[in-house]
Amino acid sequence: MIPFNQPAITGKEEFYIKEAIQKNHLSGDGFFTKKCSAWLEDQFSASKALLTTSCTHALEMAAMLAGIKEGDEVIMPSYTFVSTANAFVIRGAKIVFVDVRPDTMNIDESLIEAAITEKTKAIVPVHYAGVACEMNEIMNIATRHDLIVIEDAAQGVMSKYQDRYLGTIGHFGCYSFHETKNYNCGEGGALLINDERFIERAEIIREKGTNRTRFFRGQVDKYSWVDIGSSYLPSELNAAFLYAQLEQATVINDHRLECWNAYRQELDVLRIGGQIELPHVPEDCTHNAHMFYLKVKNLEQRTALIGYLKSKNIHTVFHYVPLHSSSAGLEFGQMIGEDRFTTSESEKLIRLPLFYKLTLEQVKEVTNEIKQFFNKQ
Ligand SMILES: *Cc1c(COP(=O)(O)O)cnc(C)c1O
Repeated sequence: MIPFNQPAITGKEEFYIKEAIQKNHLSGDGFFTKKCSAWLEDQFSASKALLTTSCTHALEMAAMLAGIKEGDEVIMPSYTFVSTANAFVIRGAKIVFVDVRPDTMNIDESLIEAAITEKTKAIVPVHYAGVACEMNEIMNIATRHDLIVIEDAAQGVMSKYQDRYLGTIGHFGCYSFHETKNYNCGEGGALLINDERFIERAEIIREKGTNRTRFFRGQVDKYSWVDIGSSYLPSELNAAFLYAQLEQATVINDHRLECWNAYRQELDVLRIGGQIELPHVPEDCTHNAHMFYLKVKNLEQRTALIGYLKSKNIHTVFHYVPLHSSSAGLEFGQMIGEDRFTTSESEKLIRLPLFYKLTLEQVKEVTNEIKQFFNKQ
């Protein structure tokens, strides 16, 4: 059986977790949390990285820091995970969905400006499959209209747009270390703060609305409740696990890219034959092989292909049901402009197995079965 995903294990996770236990400090912001945030800051040249319990929580923090309140509007693609929208909805925002580009499945930057109103507060580009959105254009629009940009870089850790890492370009960047992502600790995430004005408040919000972080640095002599907040810091056990993964990030990344390139090469014959479409990575983007997907003719053919592969013990999946047509999406948001590609393109997309322990032989097995399927069409 070839599963769709297996969480990466690099070998040192248990060793670091034992070390965390021996240090007698299991709550957040200990030795391993500091190691992880320093690694993220050094590796990506980020001014501040705060570990969180998930990307969902990093997005929630960003929504608070951006000052999102009742009635504000936030622009994002409809083709994304629910958390991208939920983080803003729980602050009272109305979600304004914009269509995606069919080539990358990222928000169509040329449609953003038409969706801006006096109530717009933020834009949330989602770097789908770890391939960057058109960040130059998006940042220019944000500057012109004085908007905050929050990158949902859940899938984009280690990816770049031009010479900058995803998550470090907008005011905020949100990473996920969920087990389905490239580098993981089961459940985890990080908030990157690229505008230094927000750092102090971010530390407070993450520590239940207290100035505990400043207290530990000796900047105040007692800590107290000073702002809204919640508990967004992961335990040291999670951070210890994560550190083992970050140390091996290049090794994991290289292997994923090797599998990704093998998929692309093996399936190119079907693309040339006009039977499938393959992912497009624009010139300016260096991706992290978070996902390998292909697009078939329509929903019916996708269902047939998933069923065929399942009968060969190969597990593949699809996502997302566009948010603007889901029941909560209808209640909390609205698509502005035409749904030209979001629904139709999402129905054609199928994701192939891609994980750290996947072998090139398994890639070949998957692609051979896909070729078999199309030979019979
Ligand atoms: C995985 C994912 C999230 C949520 O990440 P968690 O760490 O599970 O909260 C948010 N947005 C996108 C685009 C994702 O892929």
